[in-house]
Amino acid sequence: MDRTYLIKPALNADYPVVDYGKGIYLYDLQGKRYLDGASGAVTANIGHGVEEIVEAMKKQAEKVSFVYRAQFSSEPAEKLAEKIANSVPGDLNWSFFVNSGSEATETSMKIAIQHWQEKGKPTKNRILSRWVSYHGITMGALSMSGHPARRARFTSLLEDCPVIPPPYCYRCPLGLKPEDCGLQCARELETAIRRIGADNIAAFIAEPVVGAAGGALTPPAGYYIEIKEICDRHDILFIADEVMTGFGRTGTMLACEQWGVIPDIVALGKGMGAGYAPIAATLASERVMEPILNGTKSIMSGHTLSANPQSCAVSLAVLEYMDDQSILKEVKRKGDYLMMSLEQLNIEFPFIGDIRGKGLMIGVEFVEDAVSKKSFSRDINFTARLVNIAQELGLLIYPAGAGIDGISGDAVIISPPLTISLKEMDELVVLLKSALTELSLQLN
Ligand code: PLP
Repeated sequence: MDRTYLIKPALNADYPVVDYGKGIYLYDLQGKRYLDGASGAVTANIGHGVEEIVEAMKKQAEKVSFVYRAQFSSEPAEKLAEKIANSVPGDLNWSFFVNSGSEATETSMKIAIQHWQEKGKPTKNRILSRWVSYHGITMGALSMSGHPARRARFTSLLEDCPVIPPPYCYRCPLGLKPEDCGLQCARELETAIRRIGADNIAAFIAEPVVGAAGGALTPPAGYYIEIKEICDRHDILFIADEVMTGFGRTGTMLACEQWGVIPDIVALGKGMGAGYAPIAATLASERVMEPILNGTKSIMSGHTLSANPQSCAVSLAVLEYMDDQSILKEVKRKGDYLMMSLEQLNIEFPFIGDIRGKGLMIGVEFVEDAVSKKSFSRDINFTARLVNIAQELGLLIYPAGAGIDGISGDAVIISPPLTISLKEMDELVVLLKSALTELSLQLN
């Protein structure tokens, strides 16, 4: 091809052209094989080319792919909402389907604000969030995102939602140690609420395990209990952004379950369609929906393709496949195995600073000096180089930011399809080791 007409992430880069995918592997047009160690962007949770999903897509396409949600409901949409309600904890019984994670978090903020309006408390309309976070790229979602690099061009259009520090134990922003910090980073929420005034706040949003902005930052035990108690005490809704962590990525349907907490609102995405269709959702509890059901009886949001039967049929087939293959049962064991193997690399490569995560969402942070935890200088471009070398060698890993300011620090996320076998995980680690070896040769 002489030129491209497609706007890709890096306009000057030559991306390989994908041909097909099977299981945990992708193949390009030259026949080169890539082990998908990141499920794309933590999305292809059940791997590529799964026959059952292809079959479900075909069956639905033969019936009807699109109806407008204000004219028809559809069996796939009704069944999917019911199955999700029965698969998640508590009474998060209501699903609003959208097409991307950004739309899901944005819908979460709208439902939270509407909840208080319909309760006669219209001043409760601010959303609070944490620094070192990512909730999506649309303006509402970006407003909530504590990601300076992604916000920078649009600050004039954004609300300032991030107000508290992240639970980043490796580099505690408060200078504390996890053993005796008293969960001060969670308590900062109460300080922020007192400053802003609970009467002005609708909800607090957080990613249970911080994804792209931090590289699988995993809060200590008790963190979300503390957060939820603070929210409840001040009549503030807790929104869990489970776009990356949800649908089994960490070993349970929602990651929050592992902290013993049930959110009031949940945003889901990525793994919901597992890459086979663009679908995401906002879940709301009975308590959240009650004033709306008794009031205007309509959520002021929606998209042309919301609850599209084709996407809903895909997501339903993904959930059924996960049940049939008992996928969730194995995630913790696989995650522990992968974590253990990565820790072996830690011994060999002194620039590995921290390895963290939950289930099959594991973050590796790199530092120039493991003792002082000093980050590499930006011109070294460590993360991008590692990701590129790995791809050259046939391994896909996901670049993530790391660092309190959201613009410094190097980390990657290792998050293969949940269907990966132990043997395939061994292959992943061998490939990663080769990439790290190559980069350390370049750096010396
Ligand atoms: N929320 C989280 C936690 C995410 O990781 C992402 C995407 O990476 C989003 C929201 C936005 O999702 P999408 O890219 O599908 O709009």
